[in-house]
Amino acid sequence: MQIFNHYINGQFRAGTEQFESLNPANGKPWATFPAATEHEVNQAVEAAENALFNSEWTHYTATQRGKLLRKLGDLIVEYANELGDLETTDSGKLARETRAQSAYVADYYHYYAGLADKIQGQVIPIDKPDLHVFTTREPIGVVAAIVPWNAQMFLSATKIAPALAAGNTVVVKASEQAPAAMFKFAELIDQAGFPPGVINIITGFGEPCGRALTAHPKVARVAFTGGPETARHIVRNTAANFAHVSLELGGKSPMIIFEDADLEGAVNGIIAGNYGASGQSCVAGSRVFIQSSIYDDILERIKQRAAEIVIGDPLAEHTQVGPLATTAQVERCERVIANSIEQGASLICGGKRPSHLSEGWYFEPTLLSCPDQSIESVRTEFFAPVISALKFDTEEQAIAMANDSQFGLGAGVFTENLARAHRVTKQIRSGIIWVNTYRAISPLAPFGGFKQSGGSREAGIDVIYDYTRTKTTWINTSKQPMANPFVMQ
Ligand code: NAD
Repeated sequence: MQIFNHYINGQFRAGTEQFESLNPANGKPWATFPAATEHEVNQAVEAAENALFNSEWTHYTATQRGKLLRKLGDLIVEYANELGDLETTDSGKLARETRAQSAYVADYYHYYAGLADKIQGQVIPIDKPDLHVFTTREPIGVVAAIVPWNAQMFLSATKIAPALAAGNTVVVKASEQAPAAMFKFAELIDQAGFPPGVINIITGFGEPCGRALTAHPKVARVAFTGGPETARHIVRNTAANFAHVSLELGGKSPMIIFEDADLEGAVNGIIAGNYGASGQSCVAGSRVFIQSSIYDDILERIKQRAAEIVIGDPLAEHTQVGPLATTAQVERCERVIANSIEQGASLICGGKRPSHLSEGWYFEPTLLSCPDQSIESVRTEFFAPVISALKFDTEEQAIAMANDSQFGLGAGVFTENLARAHRVTKQIRSGIIWVNTYRAISPLAPFGGFKQSGGSREAGIDVIYDYTRTKTTWINTSKQPMANPFVMQ
């Protein structure tokens, strides 16, 4: 059993309470983690506040901050395999994916390292004489970064990197599910040479850890990725401190396959968007709309591809689909599929645990053909390798069906018709839309949703301003002292 501790004020500290983590590949305990109580949340926030106002960090130039972030990015590249393997053991995601994603996470630190000294204020051409007025952009304060379990290194980087580039300090609440890689990352923070308290990493449960952190009077900014129900708690919690909140929430993303699409590319997109990461991705394209004339053909191709997929040990090089993260996920998946079939969906393939794997939380890549959008598998985000396919006849129908969802995170369109691609992407109400590709991301490109997917954005240049506040300074430049306010001029 490995033992992990909180990282607070530059030190690893055992928590007063602990919990066990199970390895999804075999269902066995493999590590213990500390579960933060209010006491540890307070320690982490106090450390972050002290680092903000009373440490070397307070006086670093933006260029110095950028250099530290760059060093952290370099260390992430160096330890990418170790970080990836820890995440795989803890979450069941494929090592091939977690290793590559860990290495790519470094690019987020490098990108914001470069932006650190490009945050500028303005001189205001003010409408009054003898006054010099300018704005500067200052850090907001202590940032609470709250992340879900499915990509913790990545989803914390999209918060930590811009927050630090702008001069804030951070308390990360890693998810109670699969936080191991975050504590290896804590070692790299130390190695990079950040002053104690600039980044603190704790883990624990929503109650008390998440609640205490988001309602803490010294937290000024909450950056949250997770589900909409938790987001509602966070919005209520921040009524206590009026922290500025950003929300990156769930999705039930549509993929539209037109009859003029390159069908092989479209099927690759559907497979990548749904069976990649075992479907446990916020942008999984799990509502697949297929034009009637190619419906049976596409279903047959997906079925054939699903049968060839290698399911098994997520650490093995040749594995293509690993286990789900928890046994509860598998049970939920079974429930949703059973309800959907009862409501009229037809099971084309999958729908059960693979018979050749006796332990671990594996589930077969599944395809359901659904008569309409009332079916539970079409309406619910349930984080599993399950595609719900639906037929459409016209472009207008496809757009209306795609938009008929409470969510609006990602979307995919497959067509060889450029005019159609422009027409359709313009009308889809989602924050990200891919044409003839899927799941591509970059630190340079804003990421976020519409509707109940949360309206915030992460990545890209503008996000850096979300971690600053303008200060407006008025300077009297006249030779005269300030006039007596009670004497009319
Ligand atoms: P979740 O909402 O259950 O948990 C997310 C985090 O919030 C965890 O760290 C959890 O401990 C914490 N939390 C729980 N209760 C809290 C409370 N009362 N106050 C403060 N924090 C609290 O989500 P999950 O199951 O870990 O992850 C899956 C969800 O995340 C899905 O809905 C998925 O779509 C979403 N997600 C979104 C994105 C995106 O970028 N939009 C990316 C990945 C995942």
